[in-house]
Amino acid sequence: MAEHNLAYNTESLQQQDNQHYLHPFSDHKSLREQGARMIVKADGVYIWDSDGNKILDGMAGLWCTNIGYGQKSLANVAFEQMNELPYYNSFFQCAHPPAVELAKEIAELAPPHMNQVFFTGSGSESNDTVLRMVRHYWNLKGKPEKFTIIGRHNGYHGSTVAGASLGGMKPMHQQGGLPIPGIHHIPQPYWFGEGGDLSPEEFGIQAAQELEKAIQDIGEDKVAAFIAEPIQGAGGVVIPPDTYWPEIKKILAKHDILLIVDEVICGFGRTGEWFGSQYFGLEPDFMPIAKGLTSGYIPMGGVIVSDRVAGVFEQEGGEFYHGYTYSGHPVAAAVARENIRLIKEKGLVEYVKNDIGPYLQQAWKTLGDHPLVGETRGLGLLAALEVVQEKEGRVRFDSDLDVGGMCRNTSVSNGLVMRAVGDTLIISPPMIISRDEVDELITKARKTLDLTMESLKQQGLY
Ligand SMILES: *Cc1c(COP(=O)(O)O)cnc(C)c1O
Repeated sequence: MAEHNLAYNTESLQQQDNQHYLHPFSDHKSLREQGARMIVKADGVYIWDSDGNKILDGMAGLWCTNIGYGQKSLANVAFEQMNELPYYNSFFQCAHPPAVELAKEIAELAPPHMNQVFFTGSGSESNDTVLRMVRHYWNLKGKPEKFTIIGRHNGYHGSTVAGASLGGMKPMHQQGGLPIPGIHHIPQPYWFGEGGDLSPEEFGIQAAQELEKAIQDIGEDKVAAFIAEPIQGAGGVVIPPDTYWPEIKKILAKHDILLIVDEVICGFGRTGEWFGSQYFGLEPDFMPIAKGLTSGYIPMGGVIVSDRVAGVFEQEGGEFYHGYTYSGHPVAAAVARENIRLIKEKGLVEYVKNDIGPYLQQAWKTLGDHPLVGETRGLGLLAALEVVQEKEGRVRFDSDLDVGGMCRNTSVSNGLVMRAVGDTLIISPPMIISRDEVDELITKARKTLDLTMESLKQQGLY
């Protein structure tokens, strides 16, 4: 498979890695034992490792390289911007053209009632910003007791203290002594895992009713906001039943609380709309963004803010004591602008909606006939499948076997990056993926399932 003449010494890189590099979201014991796969090059939808293996990146990095790898114009604008103005901040009544122009362009893409943008360096920082803004808003409104933000179990909103607290990842909470005070979690709309005997439609209503219950229990006068991803990404591409969001909307309409829709994954085209909020018809007060904003070429995030919230900031005045040295970084903003320009020029959002999204979903569905697959689901360029021991009754493998992890490792060895969340396999490929490349992805995913089944049989586990 060695297509490139790459002069990398994998072993030496792994040795240095082991000695000096602490990795995010990794078990360092097993990492040190096994050594990291060194990714050295990328182009289009493919990445190459230091041994010359070419791998189809079914996850677009971490859900972010929407525009695909190897887009030279993003590098060029970064080069030009560094020469013109490599850095300046937006504190103390300053601004610069890249940030101003990017904010305007984002506002044009966002729902009509959202016209202002605060910039950050990542999705986690965006959610820290949201938490600060929500509380600032209610303070300005003279209701500081509206303090509690309601999130969901198994939601993901980043890894900083506020992000991890808003999220509902139990292992993260346990390690970090989280959540911080003033955050409450309700059950998630994950039918396959938690729907029991209910139909997906019934379960969707029930899961949404958990919000109403929580508001009643806590007291509306103490609830500041509800935060949710349109589709839970890191939680396992959990697509809520069709009844869920309409029921949530009804509940929100009855109460004076803010809505935060975390668009870090869904934003910038992944659902076939610019934002997941547009797909589901939501009217957020805050949309945290990152990932697809720059297609991961350079770090940048932001929070798109509704007129009602921004209006209160402007009318009431008083300094908002929050910001980052790199808020609105000119080089990142220039890259984001070029990324958005390219997405528009290539018509990628429409391509996801009308062409490659439906094509991928139809092909992904065919994996449902495999004996190991209990469910397939997907939307736009997001998809998941549930690995099961028995289809009937949604019977899982013993979680200690980590069959999901087996599948993922087999898949990467066979030239396809899929991610495992427990025994859920997920994909989120770059938006430039072609039909031929989707065919390759599906063929490799099926091979992964076949090889995993063989291996389970050999071990007497299936
Ligand atoms: C990835 C992610 C974040 C965190 O973004 P970082 O850039 O990793 O800090 C927040 N929310 C959602 C929905 C995400 O998927």
